[in-house]
Amino acid sequence: MLPEELTVDFAAMGLPSYRAGQVFRWLGRGVRSFGEMSDLPKALRGQLDALYDITSLEVLRRQVSKLDGTEKFLWRLPDGESVETVLMRYKHGNSVCISSQVGCRMGCAFCASTIGGKVRDLTASEMLEEVLRTGQEAGADISHIVLMGIGEPLDNLDNVLRFLRLVNHPDGANIGMRHISLSTCGLIEGIDKLASHNLQLTLSVSLHAPDDETRSKLMPVNRAYGVDALYDACERYFAKTGRRISFEYAMVRDVNDTPRHAAMLIRRLKGTGAHVNLIRLNYVSERGLIPSEEETVRTFARTLTEGGVNATVRRRLGSDIDAACGQLRRGEMRRP
Ligand code: SAH
Repeated sequence: MLPEELTVDFAAMGLPSYRAGQVFRWLGRGVRSFGEMSDLPKALRGQLDALYDITSLEVLRRQVSKLDGTEKFLWRLPDGESVETVLMRYKHGNSVCISSQVGCRMGCAFCASTIGGKVRDLTASEMLEEVLRTGQEAGADISHIVLMGIGEPLDNLDNVLRFLRLVNHPDGANIGMRHISLSTCGLIEGIDKLASHNLQLTLSVSLHAPDDETRSKLMPVNRAYGVDALYDACERYFAKTGRRISFEYAMVRDVNDTPRHAAMLIRRLKGTGAHVNLIRLNYVSERGLIPSEEETVRTFARTLTEGGVNATVRRRLGSDIDAACGQLRRGEMRRP
């Protein structure tokens, strides 16, 4: 709940409005019970405990990369489902990659998260808990958030918007919108709806191919909209928010990594100021797609840059701990 919602509830109980602020600040610090809210009268803590639940996640598994300190948490949700969160440590701060749904129904051909379909949406408080608990468990101050874990955030937009208001609130976790990225497979209505809120977050679009033929093979969502409609939506998003779009491009051997694909991408994106993030596909055994050679990735990046499109090759973190989207939950589902 937001402070103003708590204020309304509390007023109906005859409580002064500053109590709402106190409770909200405690929740923003990640307390797990009303008993810990030491500046509230004991009787009130008991009263609130009888009326409200505080969402809390349990650590099912925690893996720490020996290579780069990346940590991955698998959480048990209140109803027994599980999702994962990744903590990445960078020079500019600590970033958490959070899940937005239990599973995913988008069906991308390379992705582990979607194999079992979507089970349910995450609530705003579960997403907030991913951020707060990761910080607590890892002893890390969280400064950045990416919505790039399990699930399609624009397929759960109302809860995601509520989560953003909570995590951005100055009396809560107070994480600035410019430190938040949201990644989508390209749901057009969702992009337009998000644009209407005019948030200063970064929108990442999982492009993965410049043309309909290749993209429809990799991403079923493309059969519904097509890349022309997607590029148009990105233009509208930029016009409305002034925020440049960043495109994700996972490189799959012989599928989307040829010079022809680079040329098509340049034709599309040259002069738009868009940024392309190249990453070698993370191999997912169930999916049968092969990562491009490192040399191919470097050449592709150089071709884009020389063709006038900003491109960077994403550093791989946590490759020894199944850190890619959905891999840990998937592993847990396979365990007897
Ligand atoms: N549903 C959203 C956000 C979650 S996926 C989206 O599609 O953007 C986060 C990113 O990981 C997306 O760019 C997705 O395409 C990418 N991804 C999924 N599986 C991958 C894999 N095996 N290798 C590389 N990137 C992958």
